[in-house]
Amino acid sequence: MKIVRAMVLSVLVITLPAIAAPAHQHGSAKIDISVEGNKFTIGLEMPLDSTIGSERPARTDKEKLAYASMMAALKNPAGLFTPTAAANCRVESFQVSDPFPGGKPKPDGHADIDAEYLLICANPAALKGFETTLFKQFKRLQKIDVQRATPSGQGKMTMTPGQASAAW
Ligand SMILES: [Zn+2]
Repeated sequence: MKIVRAMVLSVLVITLPAIAAPAHQHGSAKIDISVEGNKFTIGLEMPLDSTIGSERPARTDKEKLAYASMMAALKNPAGLFTPTAAANCRVESFQVSDPFPGGKPKPDGHADIDAEYLLICANPAALKGFETTLFKQFKRLQKIDVQRATPSGQGKMTMTPGQASAAW
């Protein structure tokens, strides 16, 4: 396993200069949050590499299983995000994009998960942050850059496996 990884890495190092600046950073993700009235929206953009370690359509049974369990996790927002309890938010709707429309790999070899979650909060004034289980679910994920637009203003935060919550 280690040898295979090392080989993959050396191939990547050799091929990287030929590729234009990558559109995203492996091991990281972005979250845009907005709070407007009683609506709490969480937008997630995450390189597929950060979840399943590959950015092409699954081929083997093992890859298909990993992909399916990733999708199951992403389609369970109540298990992914825990807003401030006092805000009493519940998931209203969500959308998780298909990273490979038509089952085809992307021309640049990269692929993202794009997801959007809409929560409705009974007491939005009490909403002061949220926790995420994304790092627990996806061990390759090391960093989430969070941008927020809330009634108290705009801001940026970074979440890590050791700091899997954002507060404002
Ligand atoms: Zn990529």
